[in-house]
Amino acid sequence: MTDEKTQMTERRQSLLTTMQLKYDAGITCTNCSGLCCSFVANSMQITPLEAKELWTFLKQQKRWNKHLKDTLQQTINDYGLDKPMPGNGKRVFSRRTYTCPFYQEGPLGCSISPKAKPYGCLAFNPNRKGASEGKGCASDQITLRDREEKFKEKEQRLNQKLKSDLGLFWDKTNIPEALLELGSKLETDTK
Ligand code: SF4
Ligand code: SF4
Repeated sequence: MTDEKTQMTERRQSLLTTMQLKYDAGITCTNCSGLCCSFVANSMQITPLEAKELWTFLKQQKRWNKHLKDTLQQTINDYGLDKPMPGNGKRVFSRRTYTCPFYQEGPLGCSISPKAKPYGCLAFNPNRKGASEGKGCASDQITLRDREEKFKEKEQRLNQKLKSDLGLFWDKTNIPEALLELGSKLETDTK
């Protein structure tokens, strides 16, 4: 378990360091309501491995319970996350947005530890002091790409194993669907 925790942190370290450097320079989300986690801007998708790490964190915090599962299902229903995206016959339009079930309105509104957060969440930060409501914020694609490159082989193996062990048919999906499906299968697996 400790080894798993160390690996989780290692795979996030470059993103965590970048965040910390910004924080030390006074570039923080303190002035913002957390727009990037709400349906206005959030369409975060995660891999099976990220879902498993998030699920493990929630289990350890004793937050994986009926209330949370109901909230995840409600989010899926509210934002039609289980429905195909509309298309025009030639292409399917991007992906659905949703208010993340872990978003608590107000500054610094995420209730997930940075050490268990999806990579995409860690990479989206303000780029200047006083940034707010998405103005002056961006996803750090360079750090994301470098991180992905560094852990590519290992993560592909771990994701593939989770997919085949649990019978998952997606490489990435939204947080509520990923957690609900993976969580219910892991629960059955460990019973
Ligand atoms: S996990 Fe946290 S940072 Fe990521 S979308 Fe949800 S509330 Fe936002
Ligand atoms: S990254 Fe930008 S939009 Fe998201 S919470 Fe921080 S300041 Fe707000």
